[in-house]
Amino acid sequence: MEKTISLNKYAGILRSGGLVAFPTETVYGLGANALDAAAVEKIFRLKGRPSTSPLIVHVSSIEMAKRYVTEWPPQAEELAKKYWPGPLTIVLPKTPEIPDIVTAGLPTVGIRVPAHPIARQLIEEAGVPIAAPSANRFTHLSPTTAQHVRDEFGDAVEVIDGGPTEVGIESTVVSLVGGQITLLRPGMISLGEIEQAAAPGGSHPAPGMHERHYSPRTRLLLVEGPKQLPDRSGAYVWWNEAGLTARSIRMPDDPAHYAARLYAVLHQLDQERWPWIAVEAPPDKPEWAAIADRLRRARS
Ligand code: AMP
Ligand code: MG
Repeated sequence: MEKTISLNKYAGILRSGGLVAFPTETVYGLGANALDAAAVEKIFRLKGRPSTSPLIVHVSSIEMAKRYVTEWPPQAEELAKKYWPGPLTIVLPKTPEIPDIVTAGLPTVGIRVPAHPIARQLIEEAGVPIAAPSANRFTHLSPTTAQHVRDEFGDAVEVIDGGPTEVGIESTVVSLVGGQITLLRPGMISLGEIEQAAAPGGSHPAPGMHERHYSPRTRLLLVEGPKQLPDRSGAYVWWNEAGLTARSIRMPDDPAHYAARLYAVLHQLDQERWPWIAVEAPPDKPEWAAIADRLRRARS
């Protein structure tokens, strides 16, 4: 009851063209009514995000997703039934109702049903799809707590606190345009799992649009082990082999728990202002691919 009343206020802000930061299971999102081009414009301005970078549209059900795409191939049905609500974004041709600014002028839209109950309740109460990138300035680290968002934007945006996010890194993005399965961004749901759940199709991993992304301000190094640390003055983030440094954080050795902690650890070390942060490279295995991708892009 209490939750409903407090979300009403935020749903109202969205309906009247404002921005709200809200929790999803991946990272915190900076949301606007996806059908309102002027509201979506505010996201780009606040983030300093280039207008060439499309936003993901968040909906509360498969039915709602279908309203904003012109094709719904069998693979979409299979993937949505298996992974929604969850950290999988599906890219399909958009209807004219989705303004061009949302998709950076592309004829396609990336759409997903988030698993966080607050996110879904917010969409339902607002009664509109919510366009939302991560709630951080462009190229900065994504927020996994409400405090990360407040540190980034101060009073410029209302934040709904839903606790620390569970998945911790951004959704897998897969295009199903033309019946082809194309991985656009790796995430904790792997391409292998996707191909298994959908019909087999041609898959070509495609690079993200911006190489440097998800970065702390502190110089970040990826190292194979403690022997590659520059000196002892910085912070070492390890999962396999410890090294002697001024600051050291041991990470969980399974990918799901590692991903859930990663950005919080980087935010924290960034605030502690070490001369450098060195992260021990994760194993070269498919279940670590999304984490390796984010670390490569966070690297200085
Ligand atoms: P972010 O919201 O910051 O997590 O980034 C959204 C990501 O989703 C972008 O980097 C794109 O790779 C991807 N994306 C969203 N919409 C589309 C689209 N229509 N076509 C291709 N990629 C998309
Ligand atoms: Mg982002």
